[in-house]
Amino acid sequence: MSRKSVLITGGSRGIGRVTAMHLLMEGWNVAITYNTSADAATAFEQEAKGTLSKDAPQVCTVRGDIRDHVRSREIVDIVAHKFGAIDALVNNAGIRRDALLYNMTDDQWRDVIDTNLDGAWAMTKAALPLMMQQRSGAIVNVTSLSGLHGVPGQTNYSAAKGALIAMTRSLAREVARGGIRVNCVAPGLVETDMTTDLDPEARKEMIRQIPMRRIIRADEVAAGIAFLLSDDASGITGQVLCIDGGVSA
Ligand code: NAP
Repeated sequence: MSRKSVLITGGSRGIGRVTAMHLLMEGWNVAITYNTSADAATAFEQEAKGTLSKDAPQVCTVRGDIRDHVRSREIVDIVAHKFGAIDALVNNAGIRRDALLYNMTDDQWRDVIDTNLDGAWAMTKAALPLMMQQRSGAIVNVTSLSGLHGVPGQTNYSAAKGALIAMTRSLAREVARGGIRVNCVAPGLVETDMTTDLDPEARKEMIRQIPMRRIIRADEVAAGIAFLLSDDASGITGQVLCIDGGVSA
């Protein structure tokens, strides 16, 4: 039986890493990308290979800045060559650079748009021709509740994540007849490196606003991504799955 292959951007840490392990355990060949965290990527690869038995799926890690569109095409070529196909893409790599708009620098705006939105666009553009040839594929874009609701201090992040949702919906309509599904997950507050800098009081207040009164775990987001990639979600495209403890209810 041939295994399905998935490419996850930003799989060295946080949600991407947990998703990578989840999909490996489900039997997918998994490629992750990272930009600067080479040690974390190596640690992931070692942990994955240590967990896997013989005849297990393959793992590979590829370095590359998602803001570099030439590199995005190279990453897709490397992974397609290694696995023979890319059946699924998870556009997960992302950053936050929060500031109130009147204090926000051009760099803070650009970095967030370039990483969260343009990076996902470039990876998708690079991987899509392979999926179109296969006439099958699944893409999950990791957006955020901030793409659906206003969040003070996140005009850059909200703009990127909101546009990612809009891109998902339009692309879903473009490629549905080609057997390709495109969806989003929109996590609420998740405990990862990205959220460790939150002010403790602000964190408490955010938790008070969550109907479940707790932070979401990365494995809960991974389960949502895995579902959207799976054949169980074969009728679902162009959707946003909120994994947020009920905030968007
Ligand atoms: P994280 O722990 O900070 O991990 C971010 C990942 O993205 C890392 O692997 C990082 O690799 C990679 N990355 C960042 N910039 C990159 C670039 N220019 N090129 C390539 N890779 C890059 O973040 P996370 O919390 O897991 O977030 C994952 C996704 O979930 C993001 O899209 C984020 O916006 C979204 N999200 C997170 C939360 C939350 O509360 N944590 C909530 C909603 C949505 P390097 O370390 O090598 O740079």
